Amino acid sequence: MASEEIGLSSRVRGIEPSGIRRIFELMATMKDPINLSIGQAHYDPPKELIDAACDAMRDGFNRYTMTQGLPDLNDVVLDDVEKRLGKRPETCLLTSGVSGGLMLTFLSLLDPGDEILLPDPYFVMYRHLANLCGATVKYYNTYPAKDGDRFAIDTDEIDRLVTDKTKIVFVNSPSNPTGGMLSRAEIQGVCKAAERVGAYVVSDEIYDLFCYSDDYASPVEYTDRCIQLGGFSKSYGVPGWRMGYATGPSNVLDALKTLQQFSFVCAPAPFQHALLKAMPNIDLSPYREQYRQKRDMLVRDLHPSYALSKPEGAFYAFPRLPRDKNGVQIASDVFIEAAIEQKVLIVPGKAFSAHDTHFRLSFAASDEDLAAGITVLNDLADRYSG
Ligand code: PMP
Repeated sequence: MASEEIGLSSRVRGIEPSGIRRIFELMATMKDPINLSIGQAHYDPPKELIDAACDAMRDGFNRYTMTQGLPDLNDVVLDDVEKRLGKRPETCLLTSGVSGGLMLTFLSLLDPGDEILLPDPYFVMYRHLANLCGATVKYYNTYPAKDGDRFAIDTDEIDRLVTDKTKIVFVNSPSNPTGGMLSRAEIQGVCKAAERVGAYVVSDEIYDLFCYSDDYASPVEYTDRCIQLGGFSKSYGVPGWRMGYATGPSNVLDALKTLQQFSFVCAPAPFQHALLKAMPNIDLSPYREQYRQKRDMLVRDLHPSYALSKPEGAFYAFPRLPRDKNGVQIASDVFIEAAIEQKVLIVPGKAFSAHDTHFRLSFAASDEDLAAGITVLNDLADRYSG
């Protein structure tokens, strides 16, 4: 039956299923795939955190919390942001994952006809949420200027794209899907362009643990009109807990809080208690070091015809599809199918972009799987490149 006949809203009819879902469905039918398509850490959560969650449930913390979350956990988050970035945002709201924070932020800031600037390539959810709000999406390019260069922003382009209709300039550093990280100068340029037209900078910092350079910069440092979205899913290995946070000016965060009251109600109570108890005692840096080594292995061993831009953060790489000796790129569907035939799961770049020139590879995998995946990809590069 056509979706109009079912009576679905036009809002929902405009959403196509995510390109990544198809890979998940395929995976479910395959025996022992080499899964390099996954968007979550491959390690188990720290034991202290699991113990704290079990204790919280046994100790009776199973009821609603206040809408904004436990005040002490709000303080722990703000203390942590201040310690890392040298600036304390005005206020904090615990959310149901960064996804929850994104939904609340977009609904609070975007009216139909407003403009939002997104990076290209981008994490899929942004575009759909912006469309749900009836906003106009404009993209700024982050593809490398030439093979092997970093994924980067041209701040002059941002300055040209913003108008008096722009409500949000969105940044995601480290980035899903590219593994790129914005430099301090790029962040400053974005904040300046946004401030010029009175827009907010919304910053998805869910991968902030996984950054492999010493200089991590955030818009929090450069503008008071920043909504920072952070989370626990990736870093603590608990994506199923649905825990995240938003920080920013209280006049905007109050709107997010009101919407949360009438939608998610609060972030999951036992997990708030667990994080409050365990967070101060957990050192996550060994996980970052583990992933840095995986990144280094990939950069060292992946065939040069993928023209890899060295990932500076997150746990993704975004290699270019191979080209034959005449410079003609292999069709992405042919390439992805050939990888799947060898049991390697990766995601076509077109799931994240209007361009169909790259693919996303997640190195959140065991060293054995990563090595096996690289071997298969290198064989494919030999087969398809000139
Ligand atoms: N932002 C980015 C860039 C992500 O990659 C993801 C998860 N894949 C999310 C947000 C959503 O995370 P959460 O589990 O906190 O909702």
